[in-house]
Amino acid sequence: NSEPTRGRAEARIDLTAIRENTARMRERAPSAALMAVVKADGYGHGMVPAARAALAGGATWLGTAFISEGLRLRQAGITARILSWLAVPGDDWAAAIQAAIDLSANAVWAIEEIAAAAAQAGVPARVHLKIDSGLGRAGTTPQEWPRVVDAALKAQADGLLQVVGLWSHFACADEPGHPSITRQLATFREAVEYAERAGVRPEVRHIANSPATLTLPEAHLDLIRAGITIYGLSPAPELGTARELGLRPAMTLAARLALVKRVPPGHGVSYGHRYVTDRNTTLALVPVGYADGVPRAAGDRCEVLLAGQRRAIRGRVAMDQFVVELGDDDAACGEEVLLFGPGDFGEPTADDWARALDTIAYEIVTRVGPRVPRVYL
Ligand code: PLP
Repeated sequence: NSEPTRGRAEARIDLTAIRENTARMRERAPSAALMAVVKADGYGHGMVPAARAALAGGATWLGTAFISEGLRLRQAGITARILSWLAVPGDDWAAAIQAAIDLSANAVWAIEEIAAAAAQAGVPARVHLKIDSGLGRAGTTPQEWPRVVDAALKAQADGLLQVVGLWSHFACADEPGHPSITRQLATFREAVEYAERAGVRPEVRHIANSPATLTLPEAHLDLIRAGITIYGLSPAPELGTARELGLRPAMTLAARLALVKRVPPGHGVSYGHRYVTDRNTTLALVPVGYADGVPRAAGDRCEVLLAGQRRAIRGRVAMDQFVVELGDDDAACGEEVLLFGPGDFGEPTADDWARALDTIAYEIVTRVGPRVPRVYL
């Protein structure tokens, strides 16, 4: 992390950290296989390099939301199992089936479309039936579950698909002890039992995301789906910091100062003049803005590291730039500033940014935009 930034900004991605974080999560659930969740460009870290690092760390599955993401992994030559779970009617099911991507079905219409695409592709599809055990988002309701299981078994009998997975997703796994957790686990177990009684022979049953992997061994089942933790971030402050969890943040967001200037008291800073200087002070311009994923609200809430010292962001973050205040200190134009990283040099972590912004670290890293080059360490 010590090579200085050459351009105006870059996101340094520590692939060794992703590999080792994945290995740590494998140790947390030794009896289960691990799916590395690499959707949303590997949570902003770069999907293909993140996937490769996670596979090197012991992941045997990769998870994406969209078929297009799964296809990109295959185009990169990745041969591991892939599950893509969020499709719309008319989606590119046939391409997914031909690329040996496992598909999730939330409803009878999805099973019908998958079966038709499999007939067209001339290869049976591998399908994971998803139950909404209580998240209230994707998945079949328990009321509809028998119809979905029935439709899937009919298509299986026709040789069009194989039901290889039964799965669900938690609503509140990041709040240990939340009553919905045991309810969801019970609902999922009932759904699995129903499907197995009906003749489904799943290869994998899976429900655990990162927080459930850390806190709920009985939810590990055959496969855990780990996202945020493989990137080295804590799913929730209540579960411990990344360091306490034995994880290392993989992304460092760095930039170089574009301007340094002295200003008098009473100098309004950035749009809306939300901050006005109260003395002679030095302002430094960081050429990264909300178009790069730095939240507009970070102004007056978040800090960056410059020359070993934390500095406050002043005024509103603009589309391409924001201002930090140095007081009586000076800095050189072109000097490096760290927005967030693992904390080795005293820089804030993405978890610190999330806390200051009343959000989650997931949002901080996934929002780092395509204008910021990823540099792999
Ligand atoms: N499983 C599903 C269905 C998801 O949507 C996600 C991410 O949001 C994950 C697993 C991974 O969750 P986490 O990043 O908390 O490990």
